[in-house]
Amino acid sequence: MICPVCNALSLLEVSCPQCGSAAEDEGRWSDWSGPYSPYEPTLFNTVEESALILNDSVCQHAVRCTACHLPFTVEVTAWHV
Ligand SMILES: [Zn+2]
Ligand SMILES: [Zn+2]
Repeated sequence: MICPVCNALSLLEVSCPQCGSAAEDEGRWSDWSGPYSPYEPTLFNTVEESALILNDSVCQHAVRCTACHLPFTVEVTAWHV
């Protein structure tokens, strides 16, 4: 299973849930969830949500709106190769 976005096979095209502007990929979520993460751990509302990171069929990406700078996450479905 590979993530098409991490492997530059596909562009992440998402809209900001707050203002509807295009949001840009800031990389794989797990790269941002270390001890120096700029995001608050409380961004995860449920155990189920954080467990998605461990599911290798889904790659969670951190994205940020280019207009209002709202950070959020997008789950990218990985591809079978
Ligand atoms: Zn990815
Ligand atoms: Zn926005």
